[in-house]
Amino acid sequence: MFDKVVIANRGEIALRVLRACKDLGIKTVAVHSSADRDLKHVRLADESVCIGPAAAADSYLNIPAVIAAAEVVDAVAIHPGYGFLSENADFAERVEKSGFVFIGPRAETMRLMGDKLSAIRAMQEAGVPCVPGSGRPLTDDVQDNIALARAIGYPVIIKASGGGGGRGMRVVHTEASLRNAIALTKREALSAFQNDSVYLEKFLEHPRHIEFQVLADNHGNVIHLGERDCSMQRRHQKIIEEAPAPGIDAETRARMGGLCADACRKIGYRGAGTFEFLYENGEFYFIEMNTRIQVEHPVTEMITGIDLVKWQLMVAAGEKLTVRQEDIKPIGHAIECRINAEDAYTFRPSPGRISVYHPPGGPGVRVDSHIYAGYTVPPYYDSLIGKLICHAETRGAALKRMENALVEMVIEGIETNVPLHRDLVADAAFIGGGTDIHYLERKLGLV
Ligand code: ADP
Repeated sequence: MFDKVVIANRGEIALRVLRACKDLGIKTVAVHSSADRDLKHVRLADESVCIGPAAAADSYLNIPAVIAAAEVVDAVAIHPGYGFLSENADFAERVEKSGFVFIGPRAETMRLMGDKLSAIRAMQEAGVPCVPGSGRPLTDDVQDNIALARAIGYPVIIKASGGGGGRGMRVVHTEASLRNAIALTKREALSAFQNDSVYLEKFLEHPRHIEFQVLADNHGNVIHLGERDCSMQRRHQKIIEEAPAPGIDAETRARMGGLCADACRKIGYRGAGTFEFLYENGEFYFIEMNTRIQVEHPVTEMITGIDLVKWQLMVAAGEKLTVRQEDIKPIGHAIECRINAEDAYTFRPSPGRISVYHPPGGPGVRVDSHIYAGYTVPPYYDSLIGKLICHAETRGAALKRMENALVEMVIEGIETNVPLHRDLVADAAFIGGGTDIHYLERKLGLV
């Protein structure tokens, strides 16, 4: 096992990685910005290195600074968490070229799956169902684009090949607006992702977001850990996730999970990864793969008993997967609410000092969070301040447990979205299960 690991991230995921390292007896190094000296994992790590000022571009996204820190502390491996450099293939490559282990897939696999179009092509070859679409980048040929959109059928969605984080997408309902929408999305994609390649996909009107978790070692062993339903979203960003997905039976789970595991074998995947699908009228359509640990990984951990972050570390260290597919037997139901420092209904960020904090507890209640009373949420980063995960025998019992845990949760001094979560766990449609990805925005009157 590794002697020492650099945690190249912040917040709750940095703490999660630190805990997994400690379980495995690995020494930890927190690399952080000057705004993050008071983060919990920075205090708990064996060593810490300040790698730059508050702005992420100068610290968490600063590749030479992260690698230099790893050299100074004589680390063996680097865990990128999610966000920041976690899906940056150039970073993975430079980490490995500098003699460290990147805790994630090979750089070439990240490159293949990081570009949405090349990912779609690879998945089509692997027999994974994809959303009907152009399958290639759009050109400046207006007639060609019109013909492609007609063949797909309106509404269509223009998507940036290099897009991520819910950005670089635009829905088009009529031919009249197609040309301008393409030009606009290309410009945005160029400035946001330094890549103006865009493509067309059928816009599915009422899909659910269902994704499959996979885990692969360096020896060709791959398993899937079933699915998660992440349909409760605002601005294309998930806020509640659950596992298993309501209404997905064991046969469908085995078939789709099996397809994902096979696709991993074909592309030589290594580490933890997620295949994201839209699900409509009983059909799955691949949209993208995330080649990293995800925010919502705890719901899978709770129902399978598998520690995904520990396995990320173990397979990166060359260990063989000892869990076989037949060992994965989901038990009960788990739900995660993402706790954000933001106004519950306008989503306006609400950084500041947390004056009072009482997290919930009890059987089946897990809180993955770096906050504490007296901690100041900085304004520079994502608004996620923690995740509340509840596990119980049935979905109904998990919802009830979440309802109670949300009552127990007290965070004062800043605004959080806890009130929205309290509304949602009491929402009849959500309780019924299987609401689509637009449900929340419709409920809030935003669309
Ligand atoms: P990102 O990498 O930015 O997360 P994704 O491709 O995963 O982008 O899409 C994010 C979200 O956008 C999806 O969860 C879904 O809500 C919406 N979306 C993406 N593609 C489509 C589509 N073809 N039809 C309808 N909604 C879509």
